[in-house]
Amino acid sequence: MTKMQPDAHDHSHEHVHAEGGCRHAHDHAGQAEAGLARAEAVCRERGLRLTPIRRKTLEALYADHRPVGAYDLADRISPPGGRRLAPISIYRALDFLVEQGFVHRLSSRNAFIACPHGHGADEAVAFLICEVCGGVDEDASPAMRGAIRGMAQARQFKPSYQVVEIVGRCEHCRHADAA
Ligand SMILES: [Zn+2]
Ligand SMILES: [Zn+2]
Ligand SMILES: [Zn+2]
Repeated sequence: MTKMQPDAHDHSHEHVHAEGGCRHAHDHAGQAEAGLARAEAVCRERGLRLTPIRRKTLEALYADHRPVGAYDLADRISPPGGRRLAPISIYRALDFLVEQGFVHRLSSRNAFIACPHGHGADEAVAFLICEVCGGVDEDASPAMRGAIRGMAQARQFKPSYQVVEIVGRCEHCRHADAA
C-alpha cells in the first residue's frame, strides 16, 4: 500500500476552522480510509479485483480533494525513479473505478474525484466546483434527481451520465475575498 500524501499539493487553506473554514481538504482526507475499505468490500462482493493499479489510483484520488487528471495521476502513482506508468493504464483503472461507482468523472475538467458515497455510475449527482481553491463538494437531493428523471422521461431519453457541474466560489473563498 502506498503512503497517502494529503499535503503533497499546495493548498493555501488546509487549516480547518470550526465555523466558516474551507473543509474540502479535511473532509476528503477523512473519507479515505472508509472509502478504500468500501471499495475493497464491494469488489469482493462483486467478484472483482481491486488490482494494485486500481487501488493506487483510488488512493491518489482520495489524497487530493481536487479533481485530478489522468496524466497527473500517472505522475503521482508511478514509482519514484522508476518508469512512468502509461496514461492508458491509468485510464483503464479509472474506467473500472467509475463503472463501479468509486470515482466520478468531471467532464468540464477532464478530471476525476473519489466518491465516498457509493453512488452508482449512472446516478445523478451535482458538484459544486470552486474556481478559486479548486475544492469540490458533492451533493445530490431527491428533488434534483426527480427533476432530471422527469426531464429525461418526458423526452424518452435514457441517461448514462448525469453529473451536474456548478462552478463558482466556495464559502471559504468568498469569506477570504470579503476580508
Ligand atoms: Zn458520488
Ligand atoms: Zn474555495
Ligand atoms: Zn478549498
